[in-house]
Amino acid sequence: MTIYNLGSINIDLVYRVPHLPGPGETLASTSFSKGLGGKGANMSVASTRAGATCVHIGAIGDDGIWAKDRLQSYGVETAFIRVSDLATGNAIIAVDDAAENSIILYPGANQALTEDEILVALGTAGASDIFLTQNETNAQVEGVKLAKDKGLRVAYAAAPFEAKAVEAVLDQLDLLFLNEVEAQQLQEATGLSPENLPVLDVIVTLGARGCRWYHGGQVLEFDAHRVEAVDTTGAGDTFTGYVLAALDRGMNMPEAIDLASRASALMVTRLGAADVIPPLAEVEKFHP
Ligand code: ADP
Repeated sequence: MTIYNLGSINIDLVYRVPHLPGPGETLASTSFSKGLGGKGANMSVASTRAGATCVHIGAIGDDGIWAKDRLQSYGVETAFIRVSDLATGNAIIAVDDAAENSIILYPGANQALTEDEILVALGTAGASDIFLTQNETNAQVEGVKLAKDKGLRVAYAAAPFEAKAVEAVLDQLDLLFLNEVEAQQLQEATGLSPENLPVLDVIVTLGARGCRWYHGGQVLEFDAHRVEAVDTTGAGDTFTGYVLAALDRGMNMPEAIDLASRASALMVTRLGAADVIPPLAEVEKFHP
């Protein structure tokens, strides 16, 4: 019924540069944009755009009130986004003419969450709800445990990848989302291939090659849609948010993956992150 997303909120500061700056170099950028980002925020917006009710559990600084307001304007429930003393998480992103990038990430308020506020946010949540988290906030272990104790279905998107972070919650998960590189890194760390992980549903996304769904010893492959990709930022986050919203609506996994594949194919045709995630009505009409 509701997706509770313990997740990051970042301010993305994107600078277009002729080349990535070297040590000691000062470089003028040719353009600048400021947008809403962070894997958590992206997934909250994606699940809301896909028609779900999503409660975002997170923190910002007083420089990020606009980000909270924007999440609210997109339909995300923001009552459990706290304004902390730390600055809002932010990413300084330099993109050169060859589309190569370099990123400085300041976690800021995303690391200021407390177990108590997660407990309060989960208030009346129960077995018909989904808990989601990723690796850009603190208190993931506490959040997963609280959600599991209350009987929620627990989903984890293992990005940015850190073997220790996944291993800390692995045996509590019902759903795990990995991209191809993350799946490989997890296999190296645990010795377990996706089909052998102790998680009921594992989805490994393969970019333009689609995804694989591992379930009960079986693996099903799904193709991606052919589109002209201009920016793959947020593809995985859009995919995850759409899959969970579809499951929440009672679709089965192949139906959920079909919808999510269409949403993320549309997403890679546009520049930007949370602000450009396509809405359900558009995704349903999209038959590439
Ligand atoms: P991440 O962004 O987490 O690395 P992927 O790149 O694997 O995730 O992309 C997630 C999903 O987005 C894929 O499974 C696919 O459905 C869709 N997707 C990604 N890139 C493309 C592309 N170039 N063309 C069509 N669909 C894409």
